[in-house]
Formats: sequence, structure tokens, C-alpha cells
Amino acid sequence: MTGATRGILVVYTGDGKGKTTAALGMAFRALGRRLPVVVLQFVKGRWKTGERLLAERLPGLELLTLGEGFTWKGDDPEVHARAARAAWARARELVAAGRHRIVVLDELTHVLNHGYVSCDEVLAAMAARPVETTVVVTGRDAPSSLVDAADLVTEMRAVKHPFARGVRAIAGVDF
Ligand code: ATP
Ligand code: MG
Repeated sequence: MTGATRGILVVYTGDGKGKTTAALGMAFRALGRRLPVVVLQFVKGRWKTGERLLAERLPGLELLTLGEGFTWKGDDPEVHARAARAAWARARELVAAGRHRIVVLDELTHVLNHGYVSCDEVLAAMAARPVETTVVVTGRDAPSSLVDAADLVTEMRAVKHPFARGVRAIAGVDF
């Protein structure tokens, strides 16, 4: 398979800003080429993000916020675990189906780091995915086994962030 169609496993991790943005940037490129993309968000954040608003009017960009109730605010770990596992089941299905050239698993590292889904299970799904499918995993503290299995890993390092000066999230920049 040539480089033009081969899929890779990408990990964007680290404590600096840009992980989700980088994944969305790659999605943007693929969409420009009319390649289908799906973005699965494992952590429910703000409802009206720029990417969500764009997905509502951009055919070809599918954006799914999985694990309703899977926020970090609640306190029942069993509820979180169940939602996370259901979200992963959906993700695994979408990866295996091969309908999308890029599958973004946004904040999957949190699901792994909380032990809701095992790394082995994720790695097995990655190894079995269709050859043309690129999977992008984002989130802080990517497990080393995932980093080892990946083809492309970039660690965003926080050098400066306006949040440290008390600047709140900016529309169009942060969400
Ligand atoms: P983005 O979605 O902006 O690419 P990210 O995916 O790298 O960010 P997350 O851990 O998902 O980072 O956090 C998302 C939000 O937290 C964004 O609003 C972002 O600006 C903010 N953020 C990211 N990195 C930092 C940091 N080092 N200090 C403070 N806030 C941060
Ligand atoms: Mg993010």
C-alpha cells in the first residue's frame, strides 16, 4: 500500500494546548479531500463548541459526543465506567467498520488512565483495524503501550498558556 492511502495510528498527548486542535486540523485536511471523518469525544465538555457547530453544517464531518453523563463532575465511578465502556464499544465498532478514513478518539487517554477500558483491548482493536484507517488518539498522559504501538506521536509541551494569567477560554480559540 502506498503512503497515499495507508492509515496510521497517531497519538497527540502532553500537557500543552493543541492536542484536540491538531486532530481537528488533520480531519480538516481529510475533509478537503472528501474523505469521511468521524470524531468521537469521550469527555463531555461544552455543548456549543466551534467544531460541533461546524459539524452541524458540514456534510462529511461526523462528531459524536459519547458517554452522556460521562463528565468528571459526577461522583459515581460505576456510572462513569459504564458510560466509558459503552463509548469505547461504539468507537471500536466504527474503527472496525472502515467507513471513515480518519477516526479521532478525542480524550481516549482518560478512559484508559481511569482503567475503564484496558489498553490491551484498545491495542487489539488498533491492530485489527482496516489498513486505510487512520486513528488519532488525543489526551494527556498517553499510556506507554499506546505510544509504543503508535506510528506518529507528538507531545504538546506547555510553554505558556494565558490561563495561567487568569485569561478564560476564548471562543474560536479554545472552543
Ligand atoms: P485544544 O482542544 O485547545 O487543542 P487540548 O486538547 O490540547 O486543547 P485539553 O486537555 O483537551 O487540551 O484541554 C482543553 C482546554 O484546556 C482548552 O480550552 C485549552 O485551551 C485548555 N488548555 C490546554 N492546555 C492547557 C494548559 N497547559 N493550561 C491551561 N489550559 C490549557
Ligand atoms: Mg483536548
